[in-house]
Amino acid sequence: MTESTRADGRFMLETTADLCRIPSPTGFTRNVVDVVARRLESHGLEITRTVKGSLVAAFPGNDDRRGEGRLLSAHVDTLGAMVKEIKSSGRLALTRLGGFDWSTIEGEYCTIHKRWGGEVTGTVLTTKASSHVHGKELSDLKRDEKSIEVRLDLAARDADSVRASGVSVGDFVSLDPRTTITETGFIKSRHLDDKACVAILIGVANAIAEEHIALTRPTYFFVSTYEEVGHGTSAGVPDGVTEIVAVDMAAVGEGQTSDEWSTTICVKDGSGPYDYDLSNRLIELASANGIGHRVDIYTHYASDVSQALRAGYDIRGALVGPGVDGSHSYERLHQRSLEETAKLLLAYLESE
Ligand SMILES: [Zn+2]
Repeated sequence: MTESTRADGRFMLETTADLCRIPSPTGFTRNVVDVVARRLESHGLEITRTVKGSLVAAFPGNDDRRGEGRLLSAHVDTLGAMVKEIKSSGRLALTRLGGFDWSTIEGEYCTIHKRWGGEVTGTVLTTKASSHVHGKELSDLKRDEKSIEVRLDLAARDADSVRASGVSVGDFVSLDPRTTITETGFIKSRHLDDKACVAILIGVANAIAEEHIALTRPTYFFVSTYEEVGHGTSAGVPDGVTEIVAVDMAAVGEGQTSDEWSTTICVKDGSGPYDYDLSNRLIELASANGIGHRVDIYTHYASDVSQALRAGYDIRGALVGPGVDGSHSYERLHQRSLEETAKLLLAYLESE
């Protein structure tokens, strides 16, 4: 741990990598939720699951503390796909889980998780993948559900032999995250959205335990499992919670203030503005504590807070997170943004 770091940046970077390597497309999250539960339980948090599989972690002492509860939410489900059709060629057509452009998965390795056990690997390709066969047709091809398919690593040339291998319509498909930590402090991976933020919550829980931080309000962590399809935190928020801070990646790119070295407080996204007072408090805490931060707006975006509000929860909501370049494509972030985000969350949880 460096002196300037409260939650250990290297630990959060490596935890991010560990989580990214566990397949968890939306709807197929049980394994990764079990792993996160064990990590949080080791710090004495009381873990419960909602009926639909979200994880709620309560800090000890919640009964002794007075007043309005605080909840930090991060989602552990990721983009992915399901088998839509087994084509007569033995290739698979896909249906997407979550919002991404078909072009962003072309060439990616993938795994088919067979419904009744076992896995088959494959590669996402276009139907005209060989330039020696198709020439210019490949560059002109629109990437969509018709032109993107999976070539399975099976000696199977037709649909019947693929079915005989146990692959079925409706099997989950996960994308190879190709997770890599560089010597320069970056992590390159698919699914940093939002596993980096689940890793931040684990880092914050570590810091609270190690530094014996006194929490001023009943405090909960919520790990949601259906955020990418729009109902992450729509149920299961504990009674008494009045503030939810969604911890989710900041969108880095042209026209954005967010970057890979800071934490961002997002004050508006596609679902509307976030709570003015809570956002202001987070911005003030970041300034007062010398935390590298940005204030930004994300156009094509919604969060666990948007989903809780839409579901009818009467809460104040804010959104903070580390800057992720190339979001919902091939993503990258820097350790520094994990550290700045963790520092801001700790400052918030300690504040009155
Ligand atoms: Zn996200």
